[in-house]
Amino acid sequence: MNARDNTIAHSQEAPERHQPKLYHDLLTPAETQAVRNEVRQFADEHVAPVAWEIGHREESVDNFPRELFRKMADAGLFRIPFSAAVGGRGLLFPACATAAMIEELAYHSNSVAAVVDVHCILAGHALEHASSELQRRYLTPLLAGDRIGSFATTEPDASTDLNVKAIRTFANRDAEGYVVNGRKRFITNAPVADFVVLLCAEQGRMTEIVVDLDARGVRVGAPDKKMGNHGQLTADIYFEDVHVPAKDVIGATGGGLKIALQTLTYGRIGIAASGVGMAQATFDHSVWRSGTRLTWPPSSRATAYRSSAAMAS
Ligand SMILES: Cc1cc2nc3c(=O)[nH]c(=O)nc-3n(C[C@H](O)[C@H](O)[C@H](O)COP(=O)(O)OP(=O)(O)OC[C@H]3O[C@@H](n4cnc5c(N)ncnc54)[C@H](O)[C@@H]3O)c2cc1C
Repeated sequence: MNARDNTIAHSQEAPERHQPKLYHDLLTPAETQAVRNEVRQFADEHVAPVAWEIGHREESVDNFPRELFRKMADAGLFRIPFSAAVGGRGLLFPACATAAMIEELAYHSNSVAAVVDVHCILAGHALEHASSELQRRYLTPLLAGDRIGSFATTEPDASTDLNVKAIRTFANRDAEGYVVNGRKRFITNAPVADFVVLLCAEQGRMTEIVVDLDARGVRVGAPDKKMGNHGQLTADIYFEDVHVPAKDVIGATGGGLKIALQTLTYGRIGIAASGVGMAQATFDHSVWRSGTRLTWPPSSRATAYRSSAAMAS
């Protein structure tokens, strides 16, 4: 959670933005700078006013920031990470632009940044490996914001160590495709998502498949109650004899771990960018607080400014 998500700034005017003064954009592509400016303007206008509420409401399906999700889709933000071939913006440096987008969203709300990180970077990028038919069904509506995506690798006993022997979500072959049984844990967007990109064990290998969350045999648990980031809903997903056609496998059968790890690597860029955005917000609010707190004597204020300088470096 950041300063706004947390408590400090919701009732105060916005502090000065120090990021442009702290480092120069000499090596940043002009394209990335343009995306940063665009998303900053969007976030100042649409995320900042609702960030405190999103960060503080208890987790529930009704409290998912749907209106803001729609606005982000309409502004074309979900197209930023993707190539023109799949309906994205076709940027030259999509990873840089995606990191700048996440940073700017996280500046006001890490919850919102996390929702976008999983929807676009995890579910979306995994679908880049899918057949054009699967992309038409899932990736095109994901980019348009018409379907919400989630991505599941974690299980009660398998997460950091994605070992096929530890994975307990099985996809067993039947005449038409696969029958899925198992349980995934902590899945972001699950309570509101339309589909999940799912890592399964299949004949001693790992395979990624797409499963509609309204399919027979799928059940999503109640949203987890967390200490922060309340706008990012996570929940368990249960699969009981869920029939999935063979054509809903992403990429090659048995190639799931490679796709999952490539996707998670991109996802980590997003998580790191969220951290940068939150750190910038914390810094700006600290400087603002040091400069406006009237009760401090000048000597304390000087100490506070020295601490701010240390934070900046
Ligand atoms: C808010 C939130 C959202 C999430 N969203 C998603 C999502 O959308 N999709 C999804 O699939 N998952 C999601 N996760 C799960 C997340 O990816 C896992 O929490 C993460 O992978 C760590 O797994 P764990 O919590 O089970 O910790 P563990 O794997 O139990 O690890 C706990 C600690 O033990 C260490 N450790 C683990 N294994 C070893 C080992 N073999 N040797 C030495 N040290 C080890 C780890 O480094 C860590 O420090 C989410 C989690 C959170 C909190």
